[in-house]
Amino acid sequence: MMRVSVFGATGSVGESTFDLLARRDDIRTVALTGGRNIARLARQARELQAEIAVTAHDDCYFALKEALAGTEIKVAAGTQALIDAADRPADWVMSAIVGAAGLVPGFRALSQGATLALANKESLVSAGPLMMACAAQHGGRILPVDSEHSAVFQALTGEDIAAVERVVITASGGPFRNWSKAQLELATLAQAMVHPNWSMGQRITIDSASMFNKALELIETREFFGLDPAQIETVVHPQSIVHALVGFRDGAMMAHMGMPDMRHAIGYALNWPDRAALPVPRLDLSVLGRLDFEAPDPDRFPALQIARHVMDLRGHAGTAFNAAKEVALDEFIAGHIGFMDMARLVDRTLDQLVADSGLTAPVRALESVQAMDQMARRVARELARQLLKN
Ligand code: NAD
Ligand code: MG
Repeated sequence: MMRVSVFGATGSVGESTFDLLARRDDIRTVALTGGRNIARLARQARELQAEIAVTAHDDCYFALKEALAGTEIKVAAGTQALIDAADRPADWVMSAIVGAAGLVPGFRALSQGATLALANKESLVSAGPLMMACAAQHGGRILPVDSEHSAVFQALTGEDIAAVERVVITASGGPFRNWSKAQLELATLAQAMVHPNWSMGQRITIDSASMFNKALELIETREFFGLDPAQIETVVHPQSIVHALVGFRDGAMMAHMGMPDMRHAIGYALNWPDRAALPVPRLDLSVLGRLDFEAPDPDRFPALQIARHVMDLRGHAGTAFNAAKEVALDEFIAGHIGFMDMARLVDRTLDQLVADSGLTAPVRALESVQAMDQMARRVARELARQLLKN
């Protein structure tokens, strides 16, 4: 029996993970965690007969307790309970909380030597070197779940990383692929929340529209595969069928293709190193007819350039970038700033923090990551207030 925990079980990736786990009879579910969707968390916990269900919110404790009354399932609530749940022995842990909140549970899972299936790209962007070191030190392992990174990982199987010339991750271009800059300035939350190909959580959907998601993924690629930033490219591919390509020194390119369904990447990480049958739709290229590719436009989507800058800065720049991006997204969702202001806000936050020596100091401890995260959030919130006034 493989012991499994899912952090962020009630989200989009979490539900897809649940769907795969519910089909297996060789799995023992340890912990499932969620937020305010208590009905969903309780349903999952009952169906998978989890040891413990944890809500991140203290005020949801009694609702969860009631929803699981009459079962043997333990119930807990709050941030510390999430961390404690990550300390429960497990072999495979899905990290599918959204945002920097996924960082500490992921660390704890790696610290007990678990395999961490990583959907939470924010933790690699924020603390990549630390996470990779933590995995190496404790015999844990990180397997990518982001579709592009799973694709690269699969294309690299059996290959020598030294033979890799470049990695190309694809971007759908989102709902605003053909919008002008003037239109983008006025883009609304409702317009940003419609993704052409993938069904995902609200935050990553908006990040896809601004291409901040791809910006995070460029950095994620660097951290996970240890490549030079110059070796990592992105190409806009509106159909989201090719997830990534790996180019080798002999000129060959290996492309990974499939229908956009996260259960592929999740299932690959769940069954690795085996390739098991998965309930995902099959690709029929003759039905599809064509695949299009185009260069991303840095002028309309400045997030990609910011990611390049962050990779050049190194140190805690990734931490600051992710934190500032989370604040910018909150401010956009709240209707305080415009769509294009998100990039301005992140850019200005980094500029202000560059003056601070802590930004480029190498990441060595979780404490410095958390301090930089907090500082970047403070600076970004202050700059957002200034944007509001202007
Ligand atoms: P989602 O918003 O649908 O779900 C997020 C989950 O995290 C929920 O269970 C929620 O309760 C929990 N959560 C949110 N804030 C929390 C907090 N502060 N503390 C504890 N738990 C919290 O998000 P999603 O789309 O499933 O994305 C999850 C992660 O996977 C993100 O890092 C995202 O970038 C990544 N990812 C998602 C997809 C996708 O297809 N949805 C694809 C690739 C990567
Ligand atoms: Mg992705």
